[in-house]
Amino acid sequence: MTQCCPNSKPGDGPRAWFGGMIGRCCEYATRAKAQGRGIVGIMCEFTPRELILAADAVPVCLCGGSQQTIAAAEQHLPANLCPLIKSTYGYHVQKTNPFLEMADLIVAETTCDGKKKMYELLSETRPMHVLELAQKPDDADAMQHWRSELDKFKRVLEGRFDMRITDERLRGAIRTMNRERGLRRQLAQLMAGDAPPITGRQLLDFKSSISGIEADFEQYDEALQLYRSAPLVGASKRPVRVLLTGVPVVHGAERIVDLIEANGGLVVCMENCTGLKPILEDVDENAADPMEAIAEKYFRLPCSVMTRNDRRMEMLEQLAGTYRADCIIDLVWQACLTYDVESYFVRRLAAERLGLPYLKIETDYSPSDSARIAVRVEALFEMARKD
Ligand code: SF4
Ligand code: SF4
Repeated sequence: MTQCCPNSKPGDGPRAWFGGMIGRCCEYATRAKAQGRGIVGIMCEFTPRELILAADAVPVCLCGGSQQTIAAAEQHLPANLCPLIKSTYGYHVQKTNPFLEMADLIVAETTCDGKKKMYELLSETRPMHVLELAQKPDDADAMQHWRSELDKFKRVLEGRFDMRITDERLRGAIRTMNRERGLRRQLAQLMAGDAPPITGRQLLDFKSSISGIEADFEQYDEALQLYRSAPLVGASKRPVRVLLTGVPVVHGAERIVDLIEANGGLVVCMENCTGLKPILEDVDENAADPMEAIAEKYFRLPCSVMTRNDRRMEMLEQLAGTYRADCIIDLVWQACLTYDVESYFVRRLAAERLGLPYLKIETDYSPSDSARIAVRVEALFEMARKD
């Protein structure tokens, strides 16, 4: 993600289209900015993209998935920090993320401690709004607090871009995001079949850093037509169906998915934030108060930074059944304490309720442990095949 690629061509077919995702998103953002639209960077799925779209701005994900920026980040941040945080921050130090460089505003969601403190460093030179999440979702007043945070965010957007976010604009943005989620959901559902037409890695690639791009929606439609009519059949050995949970697998950090699928597995379901978690529910398009409807959808996101986070276990149980998982792999980025601790509950769920073999992989963006991880994945698959 070093620079825009102005001469990038869409290529043929949906896979080629999303293969050129960064270059295309760059062109899209550059054009939008030239037309006077704002660019708003986000770093967590709790930020409702609907609000940003309703402000006629472009929501772009700034999460870093590159090992190349980590050394730069470690000039300011401790080495013992999650690679996602370090990579994101390293782009800031190097000034090599074009989206970050053109951002008019960055939304800093108060998720884990590492991110919260990293934002303080970032805010020294970047325009930032801190969006405080309701950390105790089961409390009676949690929703009220979340709604007031979203109202505040809405006012910040209106002030920054000198406009009014009307209910009509919100409803338009809700429709756009529901459409995007619906299309991505349908693609993900292809993996529930006996012989999915794509791999988990290919599915992961069907995702843009920028939301709400009409041309992407057309490609999703085309992909659905293509894959529904031409399912892949006749694989010589049935792959082990993997439910992957845990941390997000952001663009550039797909190594573990590749390792799983190179060793006889097929990631049929990704429960994390780069998979199904944020797209399983839509926003009610017909609600009397669109802000309330947006608040309700995002409030329910089952992230490990919440306490308690029982909804994640409920979701995992449901997804393991729908996608007929043979085993569970729980990916934890090094020093991600919340997902690391929560793996206790995931392991217990796998053993006691699902009866599925379970493997936790704790790693970072460096490929140095790939061989060791491959051995553990193979051992897990042996166990899954016997069950
Ligand atoms: S895992 Fe949690 S902190 Fe990370 S993007 Fe998802 S909701 Fe946000
Ligand atoms: S993976 Fe964990 S430590 Fe890293 S940013 Fe997400 S919640 Fe924070």
